[in-house]
Amino acid sequence: MAKYYFRVAQVMDYDDVSKHLMVVGELTGDCFSCRAIGIDYKKEKYCPQCKTDFRFISYRKSSLSIKTAQIARLCERRPDLTYVEYDDIKEIDDRLKAKNFFK
Ligand SMILES: [Zn+2]
Repeated sequence: MAKYYFRVAQVMDYDDVSKHLMVVGELTGDCFSCRAIGIDYKKEKYCPQCKTDFRFISYRKSSLSIKTAQIARLCERRPDLTYVEYDDIKEIDDRLKAKNFFK
């Protein structure tokens, strides 16, 4: 049996995901909730600044430019976290910001 990583879609609570999300940049991770930077995404379980527990992980770049092998590497490094696409988070975040702007 050949096992591979697939990007799958699933209904989740935006507040839940955004509060417990670590975004991986070039070398380190950021906390999406409080925007703390320089977090060691390979091992940190909690944000050093706001103390949120990380449950989701994402790459800070377009899903089109992310190779499946990179996602596989991230998932293998952090099997305790669920991979989510940053584009999805950004799209919802932008939509919510626009909604609040016109209130
Ligand atoms: Zn934080």
